[in-house]
Amino acid sequence: MIKEIGTEIFKRSQASSKLFKKNFFSDLMMDWAMKREDVKVEMFRFVDVLPTLKTNGQISDHLREYFLASKADFPQAIQTALKAALSTSVTAGMTSATVKKNVSSMASVLITGEDSSRAQKKLKELWDSGYCFTVDILGEAVVSEAEAVDYQNRYLELARGLPKLAAEWKPCPLLEETSLGKIPRANVSVKPSSLYSQIDPVSFDKTVRGIKDKLRPILSEAVKNNCFVNIDMEQNDYREIIFTVCEEIFSEAEFVDYPHLGIVVQAYLKSAEEDLKRLIEFSQKRKAPLTIRLVKGAYWDYEIILAKQRNWPIPVFTKKPKTDISYEQCTKTLLDNYPKVIGAFASHNVRSLAYAMACAKENGIGKQDFELQTLYGMANNFKKAIWEMGYRIREYAPVGEMLPGMSYLVRRLLENTSNDGFLKQSGVDQKGMDELLRDPRELV
Ligand SMILES: Cc1cc2nc3c(=O)[nH]c(=O)nc-3n(C[C@H](O)[C@H](O)[C@H](O)COP(=O)(O)OP(=O)(O)OC[C@H]3O[C@@H](n4cnc5c(N)ncnc54)[C@H](O)[C@@H]3O)c2cc1C
Repeated sequence: MIKEIGTEIFKRSQASSKLFKKNFFSDLMMDWAMKREDVKVEMFRFVDVLPTLKTNGQISDHLREYFLASKADFPQAIQTALKAALSTSVTAGMTSATVKKNVSSMASVLITGEDSSRAQKKLKELWDSGYCFTVDILGEAVVSEAEAVDYQNRYLELARGLPKLAAEWKPCPLLEETSLGKIPRANVSVKPSSLYSQIDPVSFDKTVRGIKDKLRPILSEAVKNNCFVNIDMEQNDYREIIFTVCEEIFSEAEFVDYPHLGIVVQAYLKSAEEDLKRLIEFSQKRKAPLTIRLVKGAYWDYEIILAKQRNWPIPVFTKKPKTDISYEQCTKTLLDNYPKVIGAFASHNVRSLAYAMACAKENGIGKQDFELQTLYGMANNFKKAIWEMGYRIREYAPVGEMLPGMSYLVRRLLENTSNDGFLKQSGVDQKGMDELLRDPRELV
């Protein structure tokens, strides 16, 4: 059944769509970043620093440093194009302005809006075209309490404003009705590291208290206005902190029977099955089920580098099919435990999504009783195909400016240029449907 569903998704999808709009920087650099690791590293270094560069002069200096200075073996096409573009002060100024515009336009494909009024328009458009959303305010790992309070205030505004805004939209049973009752139209995703500037696993109790103190008013506002709140998962160092925050705060009298709370499990972690079982047991003790978003995990490169640097065991799988197998095993466990927990399967991988759809069907779980989640602006062709098949799709919809959004953009660039990634294999490498739908167990 998995192959059948996967084949239907592929057949309904049109020919691969490009992730980014056509422009000089994204075309040239993305093409080379996918071919050459050294170009990819320099490109990410440049994209990371770009929002902090204030003048065209600073931008052209960085372009020279990252892509020309002593890069004798860099692709000739890049060197020639950049040398010509940066040869005079006039062309260098024009090139710098164009590059900044191009990177912003890459970001704008993935971000719903720099401010809430622009984002609101996009959210309504999403809803009108049959998709629901979860809003994330870009930014993480705040460095001061003033910044953390600012994030808290923006989430408070969302938990207050979004339900009122969405109340005016036309009803859509697929997006808001389940066998267990209605789900809120308004839905937000919160990164705990944006709420507390002193996160430190060594200072565990203080960190947990610090995050809970900021999260509590957001949850209260969400309960008052009927808004779903998902707590995102971040790097492995924070996993125990985030689980403890959720277990403690979701058990408080005010929230213990609130059914619109969610948490994330990362399948790339060797601990994924254990994590999931722990959350299922916890959910059972509450008076309302938790929604569990299953992801593969966005910090793979970071976890590997950090573990090697510290000489610690690597917490993630190092072979991609092992992560895919773990994702499928967790999918089954999640769906076997419905309605103790509700499954939300977040992925752009057609095989992983088809597995969840097949498993739900086998378990007799209706299309309205679990959801598939994708990132705003990505894998649009597959998304549309799945939507046509009558499934609820929730888009992860980031709102915010480019500077705090850079880590988000870099993570997405990493995913899209990774050789093991589904999107590159299906879009750029044009691998065949049979290969893309293969059981990952056959690949290890
Ligand atoms: C709606 C939504 C919400 C999300 N929320 C979160 C979140 O809260 N926390 C979070 O961490 N991520 C989150 N993500 C990102 C997610 O974890 C993945 O990074 C992303 O979806 C890519 O995985 P995939 O299944 O789409 O693609 P695939 O291409 O099938 O898988 C790519 C993933 O495989 C893993 N991988 C890559 N190379 C290897 C290797 N050599 N060995 C082992 N594993 C490898 C990595 O996890 C990588 O991201 C979210 C994604 C979506 C769609």
